[in-house]
Amino acid sequence: MSNSQDSLQTSKGVSVVSEDVCQEIMGRSDAFTAVENVFAAMAKNTAYNFDVIREAIGHEDALYGFKSGFDRDGMVLGLKSGGYWPGNMAKGLTNHQSTVILFDPDTGKLKSLVGGNYLTAVRTAASSAVSIAHLARKDSKVLGMIGAGHQSTFQLRAAVEQRDFEKVVCWNFHPEQIPNLAAVAEELGLPFESVTREELCAQADVIITITSAFEALIEKDWIKPGTHIACMGTDTKGKQEVDAQLLTVAKVFTDELAQSITIGEAQHAISRKLIQQAEIVPIGEVINGTKPGRTSDTEITLFDGTGVGLQDLAVASVAADLAEEKGLATYFQL
Ligand code: NAD
Repeated sequence: MSNSQDSLQTSKGVSVVSEDVCQEIMGRSDAFTAVENVFAAMAKNTAYNFDVIREAIGHEDALYGFKSGFDRDGMVLGLKSGGYWPGNMAKGLTNHQSTVILFDPDTGKLKSLVGGNYLTAVRTAASSAVSIAHLARKDSKVLGMIGAGHQSTFQLRAAVEQRDFEKVVCWNFHPEQIPNLAAVAEELGLPFESVTREELCAQADVIITITSAFEALIEKDWIKPGTHIACMGTDTKGKQEVDAQLLTVAKVFTDELAQSITIGEAQHAISRKLIQQAEIVPIGEVINGTKPGRTSDTEITLFDGTGVGLQDLAVASVAADLAEEKGLATYFQL
């Protein structure tokens, strides 16, 4: 941001960017760039995530927490706070609730409050899209979707921008949700087929898993050579989407190593000593060209996308700048 914009923002006060404004201004391409840049900065150690706080608060069955970090390359400092309130749906609200709070890294002054619900979905979709861009075979034609919940439509829209997919195959634990995803595929002009998990693996060149499962949905032997799998649902201890043995035959990449081995998909292969931590490659290394990504058309690649606070800060910072530029932010003095 220029000095004049900085002083303008200071004189106007703290900016507020609503959920509606985020939806209006935050496109997939901006999210992709922001997330790719922050993964690159994390691998250079110029951006780092602080320890995550996540607590069951003993009220409304809610899980509440903070994800925070600092990106020295992007000059973005702040936190995302929120969590999961399972009873919200009955109140006409989404169960996941979050807000991003940005601070001026030069002074510590509060800079912006940005709605985090829509941005969470966009940044999570951008994360798997970054993995597809860097790791999937260029000739990938069939996209497999395991999961058809809230995040899945965002995942589908972002993924199809990375390769010339000709078809989408899907499996979901709750079949009644599948038509929502099918409708998006139709809008995108892609044939859509609901299949078994095994059939999905037999057909798909790229697979996205985005479920809240606690046991493997995909067996190692179902995956064909050359497949790229983005495991996006496992973000908590105990969750699992794929056979831990799959990580012994796949080349494993992640957004952040510390999360991958504790709350990500790799937690199971690590705790069972099937793979070593040193075998997991931060995707930022591939983006920066310091480590290879896919090295053959037969290799299986697996991205363990655990979701880091810096992704939230990256997209929220872009949203705050765009809202400022377009005159869509509101302001208050603290
Ligand atoms: P949602 O509640 O809208 O959908 C849940 C999905 O999981 C549905 O497809 C549902 O059918 C499936 N599911 C539920 N129970 C299952 C089971 N026992 N076995 C298999 N599938 C089951 O949730 P959402 O917002 O779409 O989020 C999906 C997952 O992604 C959640 O686990 C969430 O925590 C995770 N998530 C990860 C990130 C990240 O950055 N990695 C970000 C946001 C959400």
